[in-house]
Amino acid sequence: MTEQSTVTLTTATPVTLPDAQTVTEVEHYTDSLFRFRVTRPASLRFRSGEFVMIGLMSDPDPVTGKQKPLLRAYSIASPAWDDTLQFYSIKVKDGPLTSKLQHIKPGDQVILRPKPVGTLVHDALTPAKRIWFFSTGTGIAPFASLLREPETYERFEQVILTHSCRDLAEL
Ligand SMILES: Cc1cc2nc3c(=O)[nH]c(=O)nc-3n(C[C@H](O)[C@H](O)[C@H](O)COP(=O)(O)OP(=O)(O)OC[C@H]3O[C@@H](n4cnc5c(N)ncnc54)[C@H](O)[C@@H]3O)c2cc1C
Repeated sequence: MTEQSTVTLTTATPVTLPDAQTVTEVEHYTDSLFRFRVTRPASLRFRSGEFVMIGLMSDPDPVTGKQKPLLRAYSIASPAWDDTLQFYSIKVKDGPLTSKLQHIKPGDQVILRPKPVGTLVHDALTPAKRIWFFSTGTGIAPFASLLREPETYERFEQVILTHSCRDLAEL
């Protein structure tokens, strides 16, 4: 009986994530903030400042045993020219996604829906002499993308970022 159970476990087919990307870096800043980097799908085109849906599979449903994608919006902190995609993430206590996502490590897979959207992009910004970016916490992510975008400095003479966070370590 014990032997059979062991065989079942070792030959179980791993769940294949839809739209899977591989985690390449993880850095924890505090117990409520971390950053991670994932591979970029070859076909993904996005504009600096956009966001995508990121996620993991849910725990199996207690009745049906089925798992479904658990997705949340995440701003891409990398600029459009980057080879990989960086994200900043909150760790919400009992948060459906981040209570699991905070445990990812290099080599793991996450779901990344390759449909970037958002209006915090150059096409939508009114021409002006200077631009102000006001952010708190992980809200810095789309600005981190735009700050590394050369077009930002072509279009604005002055780029000013103000950022505040819960504690010093998050800076
Ligand atoms: C357009 C958009 C872009 C986003 N970009 C990011 C991002 O780059 N990084 C990120 O960590 N989150 C981002 N979020 C929030 C993200 O979608 C999730 O809410 C977050 O990952 C928590 O997921 P959860 O399932 O653990 O908890 P949820 O059930 O989604 O959230 C639980 C509660 O936690 C709080 N909360 C959620 N996210 C944050 C946050 N980032 N900072 C402070 N409090 C929060 C809210 O009070 C929320 O009601 C974004 C949301 C939107 C709409």
